[in-house]
Amino acid sequence: MIVREELLVDGEWRKPSSAARIPVIDPTTEESIGEAPDVDAADVDTAVRAARRSFTDGPWRRLSEGERADVLERALSLLEPRLDEIGRLVTAEMGLPSSIAGIQIPGGLHVARWFLDVARNLPRSEVRQTQYGPAAVVREPIGVVASIAPWNGPFNMALSKIFPALVSGCSVVYKPAPETPLDGFPIAEALAEAGVPAGVFNLITGDRQAGAALVAHPEVDKVSFTGSTAAGREIGRECGASFKRMQLELGGKSAAIVLEDADVSTTMQGLAMGSFFNTGQVCASFSRVLVPRAREDEMVGALVATAESFVVGDPTDPATTMGPLVSARQRDKVLSLIEAGRAEGAVLATGGGAPAGLDRGFFVAPTVFTGATNDMRISREEIFGPVVAVQTYDSEDEAIKIANDSEYGLHGAVFTTDDEAAARVARAVRTGTFSVNSFTYNTEAPFGGVKCSGVGRDTGQEAVEAYYELKTINLTPSMERLFS
Ligand code: NAD
Repeated sequence: MIVREELLVDGEWRKPSSAARIPVIDPTTEESIGEAPDVDAADVDTAVRAARRSFTDGPWRRLSEGERADVLERALSLLEPRLDEIGRLVTAEMGLPSSIAGIQIPGGLHVARWFLDVARNLPRSEVRQTQYGPAAVVREPIGVVASIAPWNGPFNMALSKIFPALVSGCSVVYKPAPETPLDGFPIAEALAEAGVPAGVFNLITGDRQAGAALVAHPEVDKVSFTGSTAAGREIGRECGASFKRMQLELGGKSAAIVLEDADVSTTMQGLAMGSFFNTGQVCASFSRVLVPRAREDEMVGALVATAESFVVGDPTDPATTMGPLVSARQRDKVLSLIEAGRAEGAVLATGGGAPAGLDRGFFVAPTVFTGATNDMRISREEIFGPVVAVQTYDSEDEAIKIANDSEYGLHGAVFTTDDEAAARVARAVRTGTFSVNSFTYNTEAPFGGVKCSGVGRDTGQEAVEAYYELKTINLTPSMERLFS
């Protein structure tokens, strides 16, 4: 049992004023494995005010990007020897198979280091010659950032959200998801030990009320949120009212378009990863698969075989390739959408409930529906589970139309052996990210959505640039040397 009673606020580990606790449940055993504070609005206020003081009066934002990156690099080195422990924590908190955690968790450090290098090379200011005279365009850190994470990639997502903000000179109040609060603590410990000044990084844990209080706090300058479109909509409303900057990485209903000439083995490799990785709890996952009518039987057969090849079970077993869903609530949501698929007339080709032999844990077998149409709930709503709806189409134009007929626009893919067709489809599908013959989460290029999938970009150098405001200083010619 891991019981955390103190939070990092203003450079100190303190007990919050709220005595409430969030239980952490292992989704494999359904047993409680720990607890963390469930903070209230007063605790949120204390953390945000500490962040504000550190931003206004502290040294952090006055350092160069290189100096800040050096401190943050130290924090990553402190996390390095703890990666096995963190991997076990993520496996226990959200069911990520240990065989995958062993690769994914160290990968998070690699991405964080890449962000530090981007910041080191980002020019702080640039002088432009304009018809009004020289102008310096200066990057200044935005200020106090409220960073709110979901549970589906807790440790790695935390690093990807926190490091770009900190290296830019912002002060951060970070709130992990209530399902996975524990792995925020090693990060906070490493940052404090590495010498990040008091108040620059603050960890609070709590549920959506704590998140809402954080977003609404008047001393927050920017909200960086990853999670559901429903929560994103509420956050967007709040930020809009006070003109807070916002970066929202929300839901998706991404379509993989399989063209007539697609190679079946390449397609299945892409779909195994794209539709079922992380038990389908991935915002970018391919939950719609569009196949040409002429190849429906072949592709569905291969997809069912792919789904059935997953070893579903105890995520601590190295042979397991698919763990449980994160919570009973998530399992129930997925099962109710599977039921909706059946009721609306889609045909269950495999899966559809808990796998045989697993009588505890929030497990759902990899599920493939055929005969889906784009008006069904399984084709329109984000399921966030290992569930794929296969639809057929008769022409490339029709496939593109189906892909675009969605309120979401996060990711998508085309599977084909024809480069021209791939480029054509990639350009025609309205999403923020697109992959060809693969499911690629490319952290070195911008990732994000259009339409209801969000605002802003979470990776690439754009993720670092997103934590600055641009200030124009109209110069006298003799000042140019001070800004170039
Ligand atoms: P959620 O969006 O409700 O919660 C994500 C995070 O936001 C948590 O830390 C939560 O405490 C916080 N939060 C929730 N409402 C808030 C608000 N109004 N203001 C501030 N913070 C708030 O997600 P969930 O309940 O964990 O999952 C529900 C659904 O969201 C899933 O079924 C899935 O469809 C989707 N989801 C998407 C992603 C993604 O990566 N895009 C991640 C997780 C969940």
